[in-house]
Amino acid sequence: MLADSFGRVATDLRVSLTDRCNLRCAYCMPPEGLDWLPAPQVLTGEEIVRLIRIGVTSLGIREVRFTGGEPLLRRELESIIARTAALTPRPDISLTTNGIGLARRAVALREAGLDRINVSLDTLRPEVFRKLARRDRLPDVLDALSAAADAGLTPVKVNAVLMRGINDDEAVPLLAYCLEHGYELRFIEQMPLDAQHGWKRAEMVTATEVFESLSAAFALSEDSERARGAAPAETFLVNGGPARVGVIASVTRPFCGSCDRVRLTADGQVRNCLFARSESDLRSLLRGGASDEEIAERWQAAVAVKLPGHGINDPSFLQPDRPMSAIGG
Ligand code: SAM
Repeated sequence: MLADSFGRVATDLRVSLTDRCNLRCAYCMPPEGLDWLPAPQVLTGEEIVRLIRIGVTSLGIREVRFTGGEPLLRRELESIIARTAALTPRPDISLTTNGIGLARRAVALREAGLDRINVSLDTLRPEVFRKLARRDRLPDVLDALSAAADAGLTPVKVNAVLMRGINDDEAVPLLAYCLEHGYELRFIEQMPLDAQHGWKRAEMVTATEVFESLSAAFALSEDSERARGAAPAETFLVNGGPARVGVIASVTRPFCGSCDRVRLTADGQVRNCLFARSESDLRSLLRGGASDEEIAERWQAAVAVKLPGHGINDPSFLQPDRPMSAIGG
């Protein structure tokens, strides 16, 4: 098991396949991009699958979510998913993506063993997409969503981050669009994880504001059927259900007490929290000939020291050195 000293057990592994991305979302990275990890530092497909196998067969991992950076930039994604799906016990396999290039790969990903998908979509206005993501790719994302639904990667979930003065007036249209197409929308509060350190608490659009905006157009009610468990999203029934909308209030209503996640970066570092200030190096063990047991022990030790909370609301909070794109969101 991957247990920490506060009684939490990590069963959900977030695997970053690359720190590279083909968008430049303003809440994530600067327009010019970042210094990407040098290729030799990035785990090979073989190394990634070995770590996932250790996690699944020895450490109680039940869910594997591939993310990044942009995981679709990894050409062997289908093969990594197929090898993950062949493990016993077979974990639940999901993907978080910006959707660019997904339309032509959705069926192959499904056939490889992908169970579910989250596609990021912050705006429905092409000019706002250009401003926020600094690329003109809105049609690709909308095509990705319908291709994912057609391929059976359901329920298709949509992740949206609202930024004040840019897309904070889009909560209602985004929900209307998702309801119309049968996608499940979740708003994520903007977190202090951008490479340029531009996050300001006072400017952040809060979960309460999102709820209030949506309530002007939709009847939102408590979702008593769905137990929240360790899920980051608090969900509400829309107009009596069955459609739902979620709000991930990482900053204003943290859910660290029920966190069951552990992260593996593209360069083979285990992080016990998005906001962790230290990491444990599994890549050097992998490449130094360590046994599965030695790797599992270091992984367990990394999780054991997980702090009770992310500390964003403490006056002494310090943003982690790695930005979101290099951790894996
Ligand atoms: N490239 C993929 C994508 O766009 O979904 C996967 C990686 S991205 C880092 C994962 C999710 O993190 C996206 O939904 C993105 O909107 C969200 N994200 C990135 N930076 C964030 C921030 N500072 N605060 C909140 N969410 C953020």
